[in-house]
Amino acid sequence: MAPVSINDPTDTSATSSGTKPWKKIAVSKTVQRISNPIREVLAAIDLSAAPEAGVAKPLINLGLGDPSVFGNMPPAPESIAAIEESLRSGRALGYPESVGYPDARLAVANYFDEGPTGNWRVTAGDVVMTHGASGALEMAISVLAEEGKNVLFPKPLFTAYETMSAVANCEIRYYNLLPELNWEVDLAHLESLIDENTAFVILNNPSNPCGSNWSEQHLRDLAAVMNRHQVVVISDEVYAGLAWNVTGPEPAAASAPRVEGKFNRGVFTPYASVCGAAPCLVVGAISKRWLAPGHRLGWVVVHDPQGVLADVRQGLGKWAFRVQGPTSIMQRALPAILANTPEKFYLDTMTELERVGKALFERLSRIPGLKPYLPQGAMYLICRYEGLDFANDKEFVTALHLEERVFILPGACFRLDGFIRFVTTTPLPVLLDACDRIEAFCERHRLPST
Ligand SMILES: *Cc1c(COP(=O)(O)O)cnc(C)c1O
Repeated sequence: MAPVSINDPTDTSATSSGTKPWKKIAVSKTVQRISNPIREVLAAIDLSAAPEAGVAKPLINLGLGDPSVFGNMPPAPESIAAIEESLRSGRALGYPESVGYPDARLAVANYFDEGPTGNWRVTAGDVVMTHGASGALEMAISVLAEEGKNVLFPKPLFTAYETMSAVANCEIRYYNLLPELNWEVDLAHLESLIDENTAFVILNNPSNPCGSNWSEQHLRDLAAVMNRHQVVVISDEVYAGLAWNVTGPEPAAASAPRVEGKFNRGVFTPYASVCGAAPCLVVGAISKRWLAPGHRLGWVVVHDPQGVLADVRQGLGKWAFRVQGPTSIMQRALPAILANTPEKFYLDTMTELERVGKALFERLSRIPGLKPYLPQGAMYLICRYEGLDFANDKEFVTALHLEERVFILPGACFRLDGFIRFVTTTPLPVLLDACDRIEAFCERHRLPST
């Protein structure tokens, strides 16, 4: 869009009443760079097309990655009580410090601190409260990235990383995840992309959209790469603790430990607990594990045993001052949310996600042309398709919507063609209904085998 100048006094298009029609007001170049990759991919798909004659099925929308949409996974009553109490206490009326209330920061610190034998020591001073994980990512990215630098994102990825780095105008490079290796990072590929202008690497584990959960060894291998090249990590751990299987595509033995301590250590490995002295910024939120993305409360935790992030800490403080953090109501509620949510709530959530993920995996495995990947964490199942008559996955989801009234996000929304992504917080009967339709659809679209 060409820049538009403000109204020009020599403009002769004034109306008889002396007022001129307004010209369109220009937006900044910065904002013009911001995109929503998911919306852009979906814009290329015609979802308004009328269903084909005779298709009278109700729409099944599998596109929304929000655990609250179907109402089947409510947050813990303890969370709601904590928020009510916060509101009534009269302590949530004022301005918090821009980095957050000390008691909220301390609650996050205590939640993650591993104690004297652990690698990850956290104090309240290491924590900045943010508007969800998105606010935390925007803060971490903005403090580290700038024009002339490059940043490394996984492929496939949660594309909001792209949206958030647009303001910094940095170069984005994508390192590959390996589907057949439990969506681990292709370490050689990652290393080949790092140079002296690399500002940071984003890791996302457990993963959206892969539903994978990396092994402790893989996280150690990643840390070794960062130590070798001295690159800081932004570790997106918004799904921290939401994991039930760790090694390979087979489910863990029934005897394997499911939950150890506050965030399921032993199954889920936080990067900061195995990265040694390598610095990182850990991003988290109550959105996913506490099933309340609308509450918009998250955090950045600084892990910096060597003190190399001193300027970055100051930068986070400045950015926090700029954005004036999340609502006092949620910050005041956080200590009670973290302290009072019973272990059973986390276990029940995981049990349900595991049950749904497994049942969906088994159902999709029986559909010729589909190759699902068994979920091990987060809230997603990613599925490859092959041998079908589509040039790309946008065509696949467009036709599926048209013929079967099932809407699902294509891999293109995550920069990975040839896949579709399911959300496993969706009630299982809804998913199985969709699978029946997808099976009929794949049957019709199978390429003749050669
Ligand atoms: C949902 C999600 C976020 C954003 O979380 P909010 O707290 O709702 O902002 C960040 N990263 C990943 C990988 C996610 O899936």
